[in-house]
Amino acid sequence: MLACRRFGFPSCILNRGDSLNIAPRVKTWLDRLEHGQIDIFRPEKGLDVDQLLETTAKAIIAARHPVALTGAGISAESGIPPFRGPGGLWTKHGEPPMNGFSKFLADPAAAWAERLSPRGPLKELSERIGAARPNPGHMALAEMEREGRLHCLITQNIDNLHTLAGSRRVIEIHGNARLVRCLTCVRRRPIDEISMAPLPPLCEDCGGLLKIDTVSFGEPIPPDVLTLCESESTRCDCMLVVGTSATVYPAASFPIDVKRRGGILIEVNLHESELTEHCAISLRGAAGLVLPAIAQRLKSARTVRT
Ligand code: NAD
Repeated sequence: MLACRRFGFPSCILNRGDSLNIAPRVKTWLDRLEHGQIDIFRPEKGLDVDQLLETTAKAIIAARHPVALTGAGISAESGIPPFRGPGGLWTKHGEPPMNGFSKFLADPAAAWAERLSPRGPLKELSERIGAARPNPGHMALAEMEREGRLHCLITQNIDNLHTLAGSRRVIEIHGNARLVRCLTCVRRRPIDEISMAPLPPLCEDCGGLLKIDTVSFGEPIPPDVLTLCESESTRCDCMLVVGTSATVYPAASFPIDVKRRGGILIEVNLHESELTEHCAISLRGAAGLVLPAIAQRLKSARTVRT
């Protein structure tokens, strides 16, 4: 109960039905649980957060191919607002036009000029990303990877904070704001290394058009990244889903696919999301508090075993 007070989770939601549809190794582990612990899978019983964290850690340890999927919520504590909800960029500035990619293709020089002197939500987002540092949530995921508890991380974020925190296998499904990408050969480079005169910049390898690596509205996900995401989520039997409303596709389809194949979903979010009802474990709380608590549990499990 100490954890409950310390981390202040308002509630924890577990769906009993999920225990019937889980990966074989996790199922074996659940079958081995002592009677008292099984009770925490019943939402109608009072939940002890200490046990819940323990269960989360055990589910991750039992998984063959654990993968994390993160969204804007994990970077909120680094000062980068999400798009939606209270304090969201779109809540404040209104929704941007949804034709970013066709606008870019119609006039790449004008689109680059806008990108280099951004206004409105784009200006706020780029200033916040420029000033942001990884928070304990990013650090905890990097630690889990180092400790061999996470195979890789798929992020919808464009802010580079997972890499700055030390995560190595990071798949950026919506790109990275610090990179440019050639629309022809798909080679990526740091934006700082590219000459912006004249506009638009062109690829020095193939002469193709360079675009900021972040995926614009209406732009297909680059095939190299999409293939990686699909192969990782196909192998995944336990997905840790952090700070995402799970409303943006195709990223939102990965956890659903994991569950459909018999894997389990563990959610860390301040609020309920579209995914909550599909999750075996749903931890309500700030990622910067909950993830270090999970990492700590994983570490103690390792210490006990060795
Ligand atoms: P979203 O804005 O739709 O949802 C954010 C989710 O995070 C919500 O469910 C919210 O309850 C939760 N949340 C907020 N603060 C949290 C915290 N401290 N701890 C845990 N959860 C918290 O974000 P999304 O699902 O990632 O999808 C929207 C799109 O936003 C993505 O495509 C992403 O590329 C883009 N985006 C990225 C950044 C970034 O790179 N940091 C910032 C804004 C938007």
